[in-house]
Amino acid sequence: MFEVLIASFNVKKRQELEMLLDGKNKIKIMNFNDLDITPPIIVEDGKTFRQNAVKKALTASRFFEGLVLGDDSGLSVEALHGKPGVRSARFARKNATDAENNSKLLKLLDSVPQKNRKAEFICHIALAKKGILLGSFEGVVKGEISFENKGQSGFGYDPLFIPKGYQETFAEMGAEQKNRISHRAIALKQVKNAIREHIKKT
Ligand code: IMP
Repeated sequence: MFEVLIASFNVKKRQELEMLLDGKNKIKIMNFNDLDITPPIIVEDGKTFRQNAVKKALTASRFFEGLVLGDDSGLSVEALHGKPGVRSARFARKNATDAENNSKLLKLLDSVPQKNRKAEFICHIALAKKGILLGSFEGVVKGEISFENKGQSGFGYDPLFIPKGYQETFAEMGAEQKNRISHRAIALKQVKNAIREHIKKT
């Protein structure tokens, strides 16, 4: 078993990462709760998803012997010039609920017709070990923003995001289907390869 620490405090996101990394990979996913340490406070002050992901991975990797993943993700809406972007989690306000963020987004796009509601989810995952960055990987899924919340599964903006080529939102399609096509899944495919390469070398 190869231990990998995920430097993430978002429980639902971590569950997705765990589901995606699970299986035949012989990788044991750890988070800060599994370690006997006080988790470091990592301020997400980067201007890009990559900067935040790298910061999380590098900071956490100083507290753990093995490989560490740091991720940052969010939604970029074309009509809002890329917003909410790195501020996706705190779009409506600091510590905003998903409902508040979704409601703000719907309000801002109120008069925007379907053809101009293009958006993409972006995920960056950085891989680090003992303060050294081993790589950083990006996944993007394109789609559009619906006019109302639809569906119950997932988290964040899932009830508003209809991926390209589909008729339903991420929240309507459910975890299994979402995890096949999501930005996180695309980034993680590359991460898994990088982890395999690393295991081969060590
Ligand atoms: P992070 O914890 O700083 O990466 O915050 C990411 C934020 O972006 C989340 O709180 C959500 O609002 C949004 N987000 C990222 N990935 C997803 C997703 O897969 N579905 C829905 N919202 C997401």
